Formats: sequence, structure tokens, C-alpha cells
Amino acid sequence: MNKAFFIDRDGTINKYIPYINNIDDFELIEGVSEAIRLINQSKWLVIVVTNQPQVAKGLLLENDVNKMHDKMTSLLSKDNAKIDGIYYCPHSPPNKFKNGNKDYQINCSCRKPKSGLYMQAQKDFNIDFSSSIFIGDTTRDIAVTKDIGGKSILLKCGLGGKDNKFPITPDHYCKNLLDAAKTILKK
Ligand SMILES: [Zn+2]
Repeated sequence: MNKAFFIDRDGTINKYIPYINNIDDFELIEGVSEAIRLINQSKWLVIVVTNQPQVAKGLLLENDVNKMHDKMTSLLSKDNAKIDGIYYCPHSPPNKFKNGNKDYQINCSCRKPKSGLYMQAQKDFNIDFSSSIFIGDTTRDIAVTKDIGGKSILLKCGLGGKDNKFPITPDHYCKNLLDAAKTILKK
């Protein structure tokens, strides 16, 4: 079985902007390319897992989300860094946005901290959760470890873990993704 770094997107890979929907605003956080390159050189996979309620809010189509992900992968590939898999939830809870796209405002099983996206990745890549790492800048990104196991790292960049939405004590606190990668890979 494989092990993975499950990495949040907004505030962890790219600079945090609430409900980011303009592709020109998508910028990598310093050190992210180096972090992913280090992971690429290890035995771990790089899996990005992200909630994109912008679709439910009516700010983006799924195609726009995919275009933003194309930008992310091309920025990283210029730095010789590679993401193995990208999984996103386009939903929001029911009746969250009055003028949004109602079809996406549902009780889905993929919106983090639910486990749907992680389960899909596990199936696609034959991943062992217990030896995997879950990283993000909010408790929402790491709360799933309570259900599926694995080690969690809460970052001080982005929202800095101050959302306090889900009761979870991370295994580590790190400054940013590069710090987290170095901590785990002992570089
Ligand atoms: Zn969903």
C-alpha cells in the first residue's frame, strides 16, 4: 500500500483569499514548490483535497475550478514539483447561499471534514491512511483523522488553524507546508 501527504489547497498551497474565484489571484505560497518537490523525492504521494463551495455559491463553474487546478499544476511543474491527485468538493450545506447554484447545495458525503474525497483517493491510489499525513491551515482539513486515522499537521499560515470549528488536537504544528514536509521527511 502507498502512503500520502493529504494537502489542503487554499491557505496551504495558495495564498488565502476567501472564496477565491479569480484565477489571476491564484498565487503559490513561498516554499510550496520546494515542499512538494521534497515529497516527490520520497515514497509519499501528494494528494490535494479541497472544498470549493464557490461552485455552490455560484461564483465558479466546475470547469473554472479545473482551470484553476491547471494553473496550480503548471506553476508547480515549472518548479519541477508534481501533484499526484486532486480531489475537490463543489458543494455547500443546504440553503447556504440564497443566490447560488441550488443543485450543489446538498448534504454531500465529500465536503471536508467528511471522508468521501479521502476514500476516493484511497481507492484510486491504494493508500494506507494510518501511515499518511493530513495537512492544512484549518481544523476542517485535519479533523478527518479522528475517523480514518493518520497523523495531522496544523499550519500557521493561511487561517493559521484559528477557525476552531472542529475539536481536534494536531500531532504537529508547523509554520507552513515546507516546514511540515521537512519535519516529516527529516530534511
Ligand atoms: Zn461535496
